[in-house]
Amino acid sequence: MSKPIVAIVGRPNVGKSTLFNALAGENISIVKDTPGVTRDRIYADISWLNYNFTLIDTGGIEPDSGDVILSRMREQAQIAIETADVIIFLVDVRQGLVDADFQVADMLRRSQKPVVLAVNKVDNYDKFLADTYEFYNLGLGDPHPVSANSKLGFGDLLDEVVENCDPKALEEEEDERPKIAIIGKPNAGKSSIINKMLGEERVIVSDVAGTTRDAIDTVIQKNGKEYVFIDTAGLRRKNKIKEDLERYSVIRTVSAVERCDVAVLVIDATEGITEQDAKIAGIAHERGKGMIIAVNKWDLVEKDDKTIYKFTNKIREVLAYMSYAELIFISAKTGQRFPKIFDMLDAVIENHAMRVQTGVLNEILAEAVAMKQPPSDKGKRLKLYYMTQVSVKPPTFVVFINDRQLMHFSYTRYIENQIRNTFGFRGTPIHIIARERK
Ligand code: GDP
Ligand code: GDP
Repeated sequence: MSKPIVAIVGRPNVGKSTLFNALAGENISIVKDTPGVTRDRIYADISWLNYNFTLIDTGGIEPDSGDVILSRMREQAQIAIETADVIIFLVDVRQGLVDADFQVADMLRRSQKPVVLAVNKVDNYDKFLADTYEFYNLGLGDPHPVSANSKLGFGDLLDEVVENCDPKALEEEEDERPKIAIIGKPNAGKSSIINKMLGEERVIVSDVAGTTRDAIDTVIQKNGKEYVFIDTAGLRRKNKIKEDLERYSVIRTVSAVERCDVAVLVIDATEGITEQDAKIAGIAHERGKGMIIAVNKWDLVEKDDKTIYKFTNKIREVLAYMSYAELIFISAKTGQRFPKIFDMLDAVIENHAMRVQTGVLNEILAEAVAMKQPPSDKGKRLKLYYMTQVSVKPPTFVVFINDRQLMHFSYTRYIENQIRNTFGFRGTPIHIIARERK
């Protein structure tokens, strides 16, 4: 099951960023083998008790005064409603209840998404607790007093959040259909790709009614199979603030990727691969999703016999950490290689969920160790006893060893390559976890 997404929404200056940073704290991990990808402080992976969720800060650049506040808040709330499973609505005990709070509360209530109401800046219970009761008037249930600054009240808040993240509470439908997120920069051609597919194939309107999120999913039937496409383009709002657009685009990408099995990263061939593409690719990589890189607008590129080769090299160089990704050159305008996209999707979906038998796996391990001696340090040599696949999506292997210090990155990579030589696993990352056996 995909990790729930929790978004923080509220007026400017109520303390959204402070709360986000305090909750994220040490949890904001920068994945070290994703070079060039520094994690945006827009989202963070959080663990609380046995639950994991992704926290999103919908704040960012905000107006400081005037009528724009309300329209911007509506926009922000709408993004949260569309992308999150649970919403933390943050208000400010010092400013008290204001009209904008009521308006946003209305929107949130109508969305029927679970909302946790948090009242911030309750730095001192004796002084401020009584003032939190007026927030009952929002009709969003119990107000949870917190202090983002002093990290007070977090336990109760997180308990409430994870309670609402419970799969039963989310009524997660058991949808076995593969989910594909089309991700990439604005104007790369994401919507055009989906439209082209729609033009050529039978379209089914999603029969899961209700949540706003389904509205942005497109179900396409091909060769008797159904595929759910999650479009991140959506929502063509006329926001002129570049930073906001970028923030929204990251939020939508995180949310779409979280829900998908396979991500298709669309690159604009007329621009080549850019830093922003790498950043978006990093989101999918970190989340262990199947990956296809589609170089779009191929019809616009003047080609000779080396063009594909040059494009391929450049992309492989920039995205060196995802050498497993499949690569395809397409045109949403002409439909070039569209049938092949579906073949590729089928293969990647299958690989992403592939299970390898323990027996075969250990034959490979024994052979690998025999062919290349494991590293040693100060007279102690790495021993690899046993390997087993513990999960899929992505395929994850645990290898039992004598000493984790000795399991260098390069040897892990070597083992991964041996597994790939036998089973392929094209288009999917595989994770190898080393565990010490005493
Ligand atoms: P945002 O605009 O909602 O993201 O708000 P910020 O996180 O930028 O915080 C706005 C202001 O409120 C900053 O000056 C914070 O230091 C302050 N603030 C945030 N949390 C608390 C808190 O728990 N107590 C107090 N007293 N101030 C806070
Ligand atoms: P999105 O923002 O990623 O959804 O991008 P769009 O699908 O809106 O495409 C942006 C622009 O590129 C539009 O003007 C499209 O007509 C154009 N476009 C998209 N794909 C192709 C393609 O394969 N070839 C050409 N020539 N134009 C394309």
